[in-house]
Amino acid sequence: MHEMALMGEIVQLIEQDAQKKKVKCVKKVELVVGTLSNALPDALRFAFDVYKIQEDNCLTTDAELIIHMEQAKAICTICGKEYEPVTKISQCPTCLLPSGKMVAGETFRILAYEGG
Ligand SMILES: [Zn+2]
Repeated sequence: MHEMALMGEIVQLIEQDAQKKKVKCVKKVELVVGTLSNALPDALRFAFDVYKIQEDNCLTTDAELIIHMEQAKAICTICGKEYEPVTKISQCPTCLLPSGKMVAGETFRILAYEGG
């Protein structure tokens, strides 16, 4: 389950930023997860719950994780049509060619966090 490693990196990034801002603990984390990002929200939540009960990081034990899903979007490089792909390599509904270029929903990122 690579979400454990992903969440570890997220916690580390937040921790570095929190230190700079002199934030001692983090109570809430908001993530944007693309529907085709390969990160499963349930697995991320599970990983978050594992990290937050550990004492060697900045998360409080009752920290909250909010996940915003981002719909994947592709634009056809031939006709310019924008559509919602179901796989990373997808067929344009107009040209019927695998000409779609992913423009959203392929990644996940930290949207915000709240400290105390
Ligand atoms: Zn097209």
